[in-house]
Formats: sequence, structure tokens, C-alpha cells
Amino acid sequence: MGVRLCVMASLELDGLRKEFDGGSIVAVDDIDLSIDDGEFVTVVGPSGCGKSTTLRMIAGLERPTSGRIRIGDEDVTDVHARKRDVAMVFQNYALYPHKSIRQNMAFGLRMSTDLSKAERQERVTETAEMMGIGDLLDDTPDQLSGGQKQRVALGRAIVREPDVFLFDEPLSNLDAKLRTTMRTEIQRLQEELGITAVYVTHDQEEAMTMGDRIVILNDGKLQQAGRPKTVYENPTNQFVGGFVGSPSMNFLDVTAEPLSSGVRLTGAHDDFSYDLTGGRASAFGDIQRGSYVLGIRPEHVSVSDGGDQNAVPATVDVLEPIGSDNYLYLDLGESKTGFEGDGAPDFIARVSTDVEPAIGDRVQVSFDESAVHLFDPETGEAVTAGEDAPVATPQ
Ligand code: ATP
Repeated sequence: MGVRLCVMASLELDGLRKEFDGGSIVAVDDIDLSIDDGEFVTVVGPSGCGKSTTLRMIAGLERPTSGRIRIGDEDVTDVHARKRDVAMVFQNYALYPHKSIRQNMAFGLRMSTDLSKAERQERVTETAEMMGIGDLLDDTPDQLSGGQKQRVALGRAIVREPDVFLFDEPLSNLDAKLRTTMRTEIQRLQEELGITAVYVTHDQEEAMTMGDRIVILNDGKLQQAGRPKTVYENPTNQFVGGFVGSPSMNFLDVTAEPLSSGVRLTGAHDDFSYDLTGGRASAFGDIQRGSYVLGIRPEHVSVSDGGDQNAVPATVDVLEPIGSDNYLYLDLGESKTGFEGDGAPDFIARVSTDVEPAIGDRVQVSFDESAVHLFDPETGEAVTAGEDAPVATPQ
């Protein structure tokens, strides 16, 4: 096939900042990020965290308050959007309703290249074939399904062979099944074409499955950037721990008490006491007496047979079968009102389908010690043995 591989380029954001309303809103707060040639980076975070504003600044649709943007070797901060070699794919497809699919796809090419008409047509046809929309070229957008429209929008971006692709929640309008198909398709294209891409989504599962690297934003600030597995296993703070993964990481306020070997973690509830062995405790550095937040993912909580000395008593609140596994909603301790006293279950355990306790059953739960996280309750930062491990809040 004659479709040329896309020209790749790195992308660099250096102290990127965007304020609105005279500085009263800081939408993007001094973000530093380097994206390699051909890298696929997903950007995720809650509504209003600054995802779209970041993307719009890269596209040249929004002017940064401060900071620089580089594409390849060029500083494009002051370059007009039309002159930047980026293509953006939007949630609402943004197709011209009265133009044919062929015209929609050729339009950007005409604006951004000096190819002859015949060359443009050839490239459109080849790209459309590659995207599986070759037989739709003479249709208009209103004749297409949502999935086909998004394929056209993707094809229109690809045909331009830009340096960088920007995706702004491109699959949000599609149903769940089609979204999964299109995810795979975008990933396949990305690999085949070596696309450098920034993909914004509010869906952490989409971000985790698609990205070479995932970037988590909150409140305009970059919280963590890393491979999905790394971010999942080693969140740098409580926000990332809670945001990435579904159901969310369980959190519990505890007090740490150093032992001769290891550390005892005691919860506000009398029944909760958990001893970290010396080996595991050392991974957190020099833990002092004080307050921490314990974090553990649902798949690392299991219902034990009572043989585990460290097991924690709990009461089953709800059992939710999800087919492959069961989710157990648990109240720690003997009470049924919830650890926090608000009636909400304290913990979720993801257990195999043959673990089916009845509602109200008293069970013993164990934590996979290697998967216990500790966070500083004041800053939310993960406690690690690194040099900059946060110091516990003294009691
Ligand atoms: P969502 O997922 O809801 O689209 P987002 O993460 O993309 O959210 P942004 O749209 O980038 O967030 O907005 C970040 C913050 O900046 C929000 O508080 C938003 O209200 C504010 N904001 C964005 N654009 C403007 C604007 N033109 N004027 C004033 N405030 C703005």
C-alpha cells in the first residue's frame, strides 16, 4: 500500500500554564511533560482537571499564559494553529455535513499540503481503504453510523500525516461495544503508523488500556506520568491510587507504631490491627509513630480461613457477582454501621466466584502484604523508602 508512514515528532511541554479570568482560574498549572517520537500518551483526570485546555494549547487553539510547547525541534508556542503540524480528532467528529466523505477527508489535505488533486484523491482512497471506509467515500456524514463517522474523522486526521495526533475523548459518543472495537483499531493504527499521540479521556480504563504512558491530572496539576502498570502498582499519591483502578483502592486511616521488627498499624476501630513484617515495612523507609492512610486494592484483599494471624474481622454488607469474580462490600470489625460510622462499607474485596458468604456473615479478611500502600494523610504523598519520603504527622 502506498500510504506513507506518518512523520513522527516528539512533543515537549515546558512549564505549561493557563489561567482564565485574570488568574482566578488556574486550568493548567505548570505542566512539564516530554513525549517521545511515536509514543501514545493518554491524559486522564476528573472533570475540570485541565485535560482539554492542555490539548487545546498543544493544538494552538488556546494561548498559554506561560510556558513553552515544542514539536520536534521547533518551538511552536507562538505558531498559529493552522501552521502547526497537528491533527485533532474530536468527540463530536466535526465533519462537514454537506460534503461527501471523500471531500471531508480531502479538505484538510488541500489546506495543509501542496499535493495535486490527483495525489490528494489517491491518498484519500488509500487511507479510506485502510480504515475500512472505502465504500463510503461518496456518502455524506448523515448516512453514516456513529462508528463510521468516527472512522472518517480518524481517517481525515491520518491522511494529513501530521507530526502529532491529538484525540479529545473521541470515543465518548459510541456505545460500549463499539468503543472497545475502536480502541483496538486506534491502537493498531498507532502501532502501524508510529503515531505520536496525546489522547484525552475521562475514562481511566480507556487510558490504562490504550496508553504507552498514562498521565494523570488533578486540579490542573500533573500527578503522575508513567507506564500503566507502574502507575497502577506504584501510585505516587493517594489521588492516583484512588483514581486509577476500578473498584477504587480501599483507604483506611491508621496509626503506625514501630515494633522491634516491623510496624503495627492500628485503625480507629479496636478490631483493626495489622502488623507489617520487617521486610515490607522497610520498603516504606523509616516509619515513625504517627498517622498514615493505608491503601489496598480490592484484588489484594481476600477472605481467609482464619489461619492468618494478621487477618482482620469484618462483616459482609453486600455481595455483588460480576461474572468473573465477586465483589464483597465489607464493614471492618464487628459493627454493621461501617468503620467511618456513615453506614457505607469500609472495604471492597474482589474474590473468586466460589467465595459466597451470606450478607451479615462474619469473616476474616487478609491483605496481600506486598500490596499494602501507605500515604501521608496531610500531603497524600505515597510513603516510600526514597530520600524524599514524607515524614509522618506526629501524634
Ligand atoms: P472535562 O473532562 O469536563 O472536559 P477538562 O479536564 O477537560 O474537563 P478543562 O475543560 O480543561 O477541563 O477546564 C479546566 C478548568 O478551566 C475548569 O475549571 C474550567 O471551568 C476552566 N475553563 C476552561 N475553559 C475556560 C474558559 N474559556 N474560561 C474560563 N474558564 C475556563
